[in-house]
Amino acid sequence: MHELGLTQSILEIALEHAAKNGAERILKVKVVAGDLAGVIDESLQFYFEYLTRDTLADGAGLVIEHVPAVIKCGACGVTGRVTQQQVFTCPQCDALAVELIAGREFYVDSIEVE
Ligand SMILES: [Zn+2]
Repeated sequence: MHELGLTQSILEIALEHAAKNGAERILKVKVVAGDLAGVIDESLQFYFEYLTRDTLADGAGLVIEHVPAVIKCGACGVTGRVTQQQVFTCPQCDALAVELIAGREFYVDSIEVE
């Protein structure tokens, strides 16, 4: 993933939210990143600090919440967590017919303004 582009999108959403609510300052932005979204926290924080300078979000905190990758097995129907290193197989029956149902998402969860 490209953290610079992502951070620009986050900031746009936050600024839009602040404008709609007549806010003077953005205090905190929380994003949700799936474990497989490939987002590097440090890069995101770096770009956030850089891009928010001289905006309403100057000095705002960026909170990144990670959610685990979850698969659903097409053979036995079980759902379970997987990690980035694994080949995706069902944790219960080892079937390869699994569907990733969480883990690649990336979105702005909440924005705190004043
Ligand atoms: Zn299974």
